[in-house]
Amino acid sequence: MADAYLKLVNSPPASVIAKKLGLPRPTELRRYRRGQPMVPGPVLVVASGAAEGLSGQLSGWGLEVRRRTAPGEKLGAIVLDLTTVSDPRELSEPMLAVGASLRDLAPGARVVSISRPADSASEPAAAAARQGVQGAVRSLARELRAGATANGLLLADGMDLADPGALGALQFLLSGRSAYVDGQFLLVGPGADQLPEDADRPLAGRTAVVTGAARGIGAAIAKVLHRDGARVVCVDLPAAGEELAKVSNAAGGTALQLDITSDDAGARILEHARSRYGGLDIMVHNAGITRDKLLANMDQARWDSVINVNLAAQLRINEALLASGAGQAPRVVCLASTSGIAGNRGQTNYAASKAGVIGMVGASAAAFAERGGAINAVAPGFIETEMTARIPWGTREVARRLLPSLQQGGLPVDVAEAVAFLAGDAAGGVNGRTLRVCGQSLVGA
Ligand code: NAD
Repeated sequence: MADAYLKLVNSPPASVIAKKLGLPRPTELRRYRRGQPMVPGPVLVVASGAAEGLSGQLSGWGLEVRRRTAPGEKLGAIVLDLTTVSDPRELSEPMLAVGASLRDLAPGARVVSISRPADSASEPAAAAARQGVQGAVRSLARELRAGATANGLLLADGMDLADPGALGALQFLLSGRSAYVDGQFLLVGPGADQLPEDADRPLAGRTAVVTGAARGIGAAIAKVLHRDGARVVCVDLPAAGEELAKVSNAAGGTALQLDITSDDAGARILEHARSRYGGLDIMVHNAGITRDKLLANMDQARWDSVINVNLAAQLRINEALLASGAGQAPRVVCLASTSGIAGNRGQTNYAASKAGVIGMVGASAAAFAERGGAINAVAPGFIETEMTARIPWGTREVARRLLPSLQQGGLPVDVAEAVAFLAGDAAGGVNGRTLRVCGQSLVGA
């Protein structure tokens, strides 16, 4: 499962040989570790308008802020404020200023743009400029090396950069928590009340339920939610009971053996959370299966089982959550997949289920918001798990190295970090959205 090539190519003699031969040299990604600075160096602020507010915020987080680079200094991040652009011609100056500093980026650095959504612009020229930002930043993401990434925040019109929702999302994109999020634009609207008091334990006091927690991405989610302070109920099939017990012990939580496709799954989850912890604050729909076949060879059992586990069960459990009336509705995070966005040969059933999750999340946002909650999805791309370990070695190796700029698959923890972000107050302005954790593996997006 481990990426042996990545380890080899980062060892001293092999790295020199790989450089000489022009072989891909993926870098170990900068991932979150408690106590480490948010970014690996000073932050360059580039702005189309006044930058004092943004610079003040970044300084307030203890970051060193620069308005221009100093010779020989390595930058931890570039934050690009384009919230005021209203014509495509205004893009050249800030974008070229970013370009002039790219060689100064430290390994694992971040470029984050802040702009407005194109579809709410009142003039075609403003919409063109806003959409242009996305093309430029996504392309820039593909030019970065050494584990650096570029992403964007889309701030809803009228929202200020000082809004807690904007700041929470900015912190996520700057930090090691977003290691495998690349070339993504996250729409942030109003709704966030405050940032978590303790940035290292943002989920303190919350109760979370994670389905499919016995292994893979689900086990990583349970552990990361626990690390971030949550009490975790780990759900999986009775057949996975032994592994489930190990994960729930490691996550300091409780295990609930349950088939999520059973009619009473929602009621049993709610009852377990209520009786053990007094309620449920976070629901992570992670359990999922594949039953791949070309559509010409697909049978009903394969099709129906994938839709039932990956989509119908989530819909039913969400209905139970919304109907429960047990105080606040939780923050819900659903696992989708890039297959549900780009499509994937042999996965019509799986892609239907995962695209369905994205549709469900968008359509459920208002109902959860009304009850004080939210619902979002994470769409992983190529993640190193037992699922991807079954891909033949050659195909897997080619798939890894063709991934633009990062040249490696993601780890379960990378997906877990995105889930933890969406489960907490820092994502208070994000609802109905799908965040990809895919190292920008999709061509054109
Ligand atoms: P996995 O197969 O390793 O683990 C899935 C877990 O879900 C297992 O423990 C399984 O027992 C459990 N499960 C299956 N059916 C269940 C049911 N009816 N009730 C309760 N539990 C059930 O999968 P993974 O690779 O860790 O993937 C986790 C999620 O991420 C899935 O939704 C998957 O579709 C999605 N995903 C994975 C990747 C990847 O690269 N691995 C990519 C995109 C999306």
